[in-house]
Amino acid sequence: MSQIGKDLLQDCSTQSEFCFSLRCAECGEVWKSRAIRFSRAGVTPPSEGKRVIFDTLYKREKDEALLRAAEEVGKAFNHCPICHRMVCDHCFLVCDELDMCVACARHLQEHGELVAECTEGGTG
Ligand SMILES: [Zn+2]
Ligand SMILES: [Zn+2]
Repeated sequence: MSQIGKDLLQDCSTQSEFCFSLRCAECGEVWKSRAIRFSRAGVTPPSEGKRVIFDTLYKREKDEALLRAAEEVGKAFNHCPICHRMVCDHCFLVCDELDMCVACARHLQEHGELVAECTEGGTG
């Protein structure tokens, strides 16, 4: 499995929830990670000290949420080794020699099966 750079993910978190998104480079579909609620969401820090603590907690939980989102996106997205774009399962083909995105397959006249169609019951 290819490693997905966390910096590829768009941050769409709010003050109370952490959420990240990624756009398929081929079809443009936007994927969103499952939103994770900030443990202190809606709580107003009662003191300046608590505010600092809440801010730090927020950053820490956001980092964790980002890691989780990167894991999630690895299951929904694929890195094309030819054009180096991130594409969704509907735009990525499993070919004989090299798996690639549909645009590259068209260009190179390769044939394969869509990931989305052969993931059921498949072993890694
Ligand atoms: Zn796509
Ligand atoms: Zn490609």
